[in-house]
Formats: sequence, structure tokens, C-alpha cells
Amino acid sequence: MKKECEIVQDLLFGYNDGVISKSSTELVENHLKECDICKNKLEEIQKDSKDDNQEKEVDYLKKVKNKLKRRKKIIITVLSILFIIIVFNVVIFINYKLTPSEVQVFLLDNITEEQKDDIENTIKGFGDITYESKEEALNRIREKLGENAYIINGWDEDNPFRASFTVKVDSEDIEKITSLVENLDGVHSVEFMHIGNPYELFIINILMNKS
Ligand SMILES: [Zn+2]
Repeated sequence: MKKECEIVQDLLFGYNDGVISKSSTELVENHLKECDICKNKLEEIQKDSKDDNQEKEVDYLKKVKNKLKRRKKIIITVLSILFIIIVFNVVIFINYKLTPSEVQVFLLDNITEEQKDDIENTIKGFGDITYESKEEALNRIREKLGENAYIINGWDEDNPFRASFTVKVDSEDIEKITSLVENLDGVHSVEFMHIGNPYELFIINILMNKS
């Protein structure tokens, strides 16, 4: 290798990057006109630096792509969570709507048939009515007690349970029906089962279904 070639080749990287002095640049350019070896060397350097730049570009694009992928994942996760929350609430409110409240009207023992009819007619427009006599109430309790039913042995002669009408109503009718029935003759008391909080109802339903 000629001495000048050695010097020029040392300068080629700087020349390619455009960071050498004007006089060095002139020296390189004059030499390149006459020397094919150094010219080839420069072309190699130019090719390498081009490849290098392309690699950097690819890396950058990959990073951007990964960032977008991550952002997409986050958006999908957030949307999924929102979707689950919405479905959960819809289920709860459907459950709430489908669960009727109950009003139970307990009757006095000495009620007349006429009074009974009057009560029944007052509430029957609100929903399905079931009637339970004193005896039926006692039997229901007896069944519930199972093998402990002996506790209420002998209650038949002096049955403390009350006959009742139970009507399934929409929650918003509870107050209306209660005020209508409360003061009718033959009514002992009015009780109702109503839960104002749909979430509470949902949890109670789950617990009741389990037991
Ligand atoms: Zn040369």
C-alpha cells in the first residue's frame, strides 16, 4: 500500500461523515481521482453506513410498532373491563326488575267472609295473590322444622299463626297497597319484603340460591 493511500484511507470515514477539514477533503478528493483502490474503499464505507442507517430505521419502526401494540393492548383491556362492568350492571337490574316484592296481609282470627273478600278485592289488581290459612301456615312451619317439628307439637289446638294473603307486586306499588289495606276491617297487620338496593338483592339471591 502506498503511503498516501494509508493516509487517505484513515481520512475516509471522516470524509464520508463530512467532518474533516477543507484541505484534508481536497487531498482525499484529488487522491480518489487517481486511485481505484481507495475509491473502492470509500464505496464500501458508504454502503456500510447506508446499511447501518437502514438498520437504525428498522429498529425505530419496530419500537413504534411495539408502542402501538402496547397502547392497543391497554385500550382493549380497558374496554373489556368497561364491558364486563356494564354487563354486570345490566344483569343486576334485570334481576331486580324480575324479582317482585311481596306484600303479606295478615288477617284477624275472627274475620268474616265478607271482610276477607273485601281485602282480596282490594289487592287482587296489583298482582298474583296466594292465600294461606292458619293451618297451612302451621304445616309450612312444621315442614320447615323437619325432625325438629316436635317443638310445635300441640300447637294445632291453639294455633298462633295467622291466615294471610300474599301478593306479588312491583316495588313501586308497595306503599300504595299498604295504605289501602292497612285500615280495612279484619286486617291484623301488613308486612312487606322489599329491598331498595339492587346490589343487595343480587347478593341475597346468590346466598339464598346457595343454601
Ligand atoms: Zn489510494
